[in-house]
Amino acid sequence: MTSAKIYYDSDADLGLLMGKTIVFLGFGNQGAAQAQNLRDTGIHNEQIIVANRTDAYAEDAKSKGFNVEHDFGKAAEVADVVFILIPDQVQPRVFNEQFAPKLKANATIVVASGYNVFFKLLKFKPTQDVVMVAPRMIGSSVRSLYVKGTGFPCFVSVDQDGTGNGLPMALALSRGIGATKTGAIASSAREETAMDLFAEQALWPNIIMIFREAFSVLREAGCSDEALCYEMWMSKEPAEIFEAAADEGFITQLKHHSTVSQFGQLSGAFKLDGVEMRKHFKHILHKQILNGKFCEEFSKIETELDKEGPENPLNELYRRCEEETELGQAEKRVRSRLAAASGSS
Ligand code: NDP
Repeated sequence: MTSAKIYYDSDADLGLLMGKTIVFLGFGNQGAAQAQNLRDTGIHNEQIIVANRTDAYAEDAKSKGFNVEHDFGKAAEVADVVFILIPDQVQPRVFNEQFAPKLKANATIVVASGYNVFFKLLKFKPTQDVVMVAPRMIGSSVRSLYVKGTGFPCFVSVDQDGTGNGLPMALALSRGIGATKTGAIASSAREETAMDLFAEQALWPNIIMIFREAFSVLREAGCSDEALCYEMWMSKEPAEIFEAAADEGFITQLKHHSTVSQFGQLSGAFKLDGVEMRKHFKHILHKQILNGKFCEEFSKIETELDKEGPENPLNELYRRCEEETELGQAEKRVRSRLAAASGSS
């Protein structure tokens, strides 16, 4: 059994950030939230630079009072700390070509996801610190929970300690964005990547498959599209179950369900032995994720994800979900009927 260290505000010294120039490469979901949190923690606005191309994100940063630099090389030259908060798939291209060559030898580089660090897709100097401060929240919640004063869950790690001061810096930056308020969990780029990609490539694909097949079986047995959509997800019951699981306990929340439901769920779960599933999960983890196979394959199609229409492989997958599954087709019909009904009422 392993347990992780948890860092709180009292473990972090904000004084380490005094006088440092902190650059946010990207002002999207995470960038906008983290930059505002850092400033509200007391880091002077003059210390913060948002590096962004000339567009709506840059305008948003300006409207919030930030100094914006469009020339990434110039931003890199002055950065003591850089938060890389642009999409994972474009980070190697943008950071390695435009940022890394100009970055100080003792800079602290902060990522919010372990992917590019674990798969060694970013170029760092051995004298630089590479730390991960990875909120377990979407950007809007990183901001709203900070404003509320409650904080948010986060992973923190030092994946390269070039200066020997990586951990104190990682903790100071975590505190700056509000991540040590409720406790930042010590992790690593490897652990974060393994869990993140496992959820995306093993857990959720199975959940999508289970919903898709359950939908078809119940439909074949005569259940209507409307009843199925509401029963399975549109009522938001699954969202409430997960919320109760987070608040009260994964199994304890079952106590809110009827006795018939509790008995059905618990006895049903014990009837499934899980052996094949465990084999499948291990295969995905070791032969697809940790060995770099997925990363290699994804790198090959990464540039195609900017394309419009069917040439974009992601668009093609969405099309197949909508057109080739009963669940996708039925939901589309139900939603358009509901929209028509609400329009006419
Ligand atoms: P976004 O998609 O919101 O990033 C948008 C920002 O990236 C904008 O500033 C955009 O500016 C810039 N950008 C996009 N493409 C390029 C490009 N080719 N060149 C330069 N800049 C570009 O990213 P997220 O905030 O979602 O993700 C950032 C990091 O945070 C990732 O590592 C992600 O894994 C991690 N993360 C994200 C979470 C989330 O909730 N989304 C949760 C936890 C971690 P412009 O288009 O103007 O260039």
